[in-house]
Amino acid sequence: MIITDNHMHLYRHLKLEALEEFKKAGGTHVLLVSLLAHHYDVSPKSGRDYVKVFEEHLSLVRKANKIVKAYAVLGVHPAEITIIGSRLGFEKATEIMKEALEIAGEYVAKGEAVAIKSGRPHYRVDSHVWKLSNEVMRHAFEVAKEVGCAVQLHTESYSFEMAMEIAKIADEVGLKREKVVKHFSPPKVKEFEEIGIFPSVLAGNDNVLTAAKQGSRFVLETDYIDDPKRPGAVLGPKTVPRKVKELLKHGFDEDFIYKICKENIEKIYGIEL
Ligand SMILES: [Zn+2]
Repeated sequence: MIITDNHMHLYRHLKLEALEEFKKAGGTHVLLVSLLAHHYDVSPKSGRDYVKVFEEHLSLVRKANKIVKAYAVLGVHPAEITIIGSRLGFEKATEIMKEALEIAGEYVAKGEAVAIKSGRPHYRVDSHVWKLSNEVMRHAFEVAKEVGCAVQLHTESYSFEMAMEIAKIADEVGLKREKVVKHFSPPKVKEFEEIGIFPSVLAGNDNVLTAAKQGSRFVLETDYIDDPKRPGAVLGPKTVPRKVKELLKHGFDEDFIYKICKENIEKIYGIEL
């Protein structure tokens, strides 16, 4: 059985051991997402400085591939606008983030990564920074459209309105809504179907069952962050396999799992598992 975690980080605690746990629990495929530049001791002065971030991440993904099938997602975290902006000004931060996204897109074009990650801050920022953040996200959509890849999005908490607003930005750029994957989604499968953006549902609590009861148009994630101070945060590496297996006990069959963990992933990212 194929079991995929759509969004996980491995960088400073258990690292590959966490992936061994995922595998032991039944996990077979994972999308590993790069983190903020400072996690790689990079303090970017230009977009090119993200090459070190991406190269380090790709090297981790290569090691991960000895354990399960792992794919790279190269991100420019939306919080960078605050971090880089406080050093170099928000306009310069915007320019750096856009350039870094273009570089991420080049890696996807070369087949070394399957998607890029962007979004906008999940915390309150002033209207100027909000506007610039939306500009960065729009640029990520432009890059994705050109490369023909998906964008994982880190954003403020989900609401129907915010998702519609983002869907419209994708329309303006000409990026298909289904290529926009909302990371950290609630199990509102029907609403997402209506909006067109693809939900990556956080597998905690009863989310997986709640999502499954509404249909099969979703993928699953733990957003495992591998932080020694918060060992099981956001969710532990075994969560997706465990919750997927629970679905079987609730009467969902293997075809259903196949749809969520294989077909949906293949369709979003244009890959074959
Ligand atoms: Zn994450």
